[in-house]
Amino acid sequence: MAISIPTTSVSKDSSVFNSINSPKNNTQIYGSQLKFEDSQFKYLGLIKRNQGSLRLEASFAPTQVAPVKDMEKKQNDLNLFNDMRDRFLSFKRFKYLEKSDHYQKLANGQAPKFMVIACADSRVCPTSILGFEPGEAFVVRNVANLVPPFENGPTETNAALEFAVNALKVENLFIVGHSCCGGIQALMSMQDGEHSSVFIKDWVINGKQARTSTKAFAADLSFEQQCRHCEKESVNHSLVNLLSYPWIEERVRNGLLFIHGGYYDFINCTFEKWTLDYKGNGAQEDGKYAIKDRVFWS
Ligand SMILES: [Zn+2]
Repeated sequence: MAISIPTTSVSKDSSVFNSINSPKNNTQIYGSQLKFEDSQFKYLGLIKRNQGSLRLEASFAPTQVAPVKDMEKKQNDLNLFNDMRDRFLSFKRFKYLEKSDHYQKLANGQAPKFMVIACADSRVCPTSILGFEPGEAFVVRNVANLVPPFENGPTETNAALEFAVNALKVENLFIVGHSCCGGIQALMSMQDGEHSSVFIKDWVINGKQARTSTKAFAADLSFEQQCRHCEKESVNHSLVNLLSYPWIEERVRNGLLFIHGGYYDFINCTFEKWTLDYKGNGAQEDGKYAIKDRVFWS
């Protein structure tokens, strides 16, 4: 199913794609590094003495971590969490305690008007860019902000949708795409009919209809420009996928729930928002849906 929106503005300026690659900040790979912490060595050492295990002694082997590097990493980790502590305490002092009545109400329950589905990308936090306060938006984030169709079965995303729509009774579902999306780039890089055991590809293939329509519409454009087009196209396909959930379609048809798309361009810091125009009488003749209330914030 396709929809008639929006005439995606595809920038022909390839310079904006220079920052597609993710930041090279690998300093927080705690999982593999932690086993070399001193405390862990002590723990393992205790077990080794008690059990005399050769296997544990073997696991002791990788002690050749450069001490200076190890200390630098420890210091970096400490600084990161010191900063985090300061930010938390600042939040507590200047927000939580100053609005303690509001936060006490939140302790009793939540009644957000929005559910937001956004990308997991660290640069596009919807709470930060759209100013949601605690309690205002139920948020789920996944790679490339995709909503799979109902028939694909359960995922974390539609589990969250089910709770937000049926239990919280949110009034707005808002799917927010963004510029330079690595998930969309992975989707557009896949070959037709490609099956992959790589988790990311296995997930982003949920957007294959957007890839197909992008390839048809933007065949003459560069790969990067096709990706920009697909970033919006995939939002539109996810909006339509929302309607494949009977408990969403019913509430939209009855005017109790509204479906919106958004696109955050973090290169130029602009934001587009539009709303699906669905009244329950199906798609237009060509199988497309219209949009309304399109706005552009810059
Ligand atoms: Zn993304």
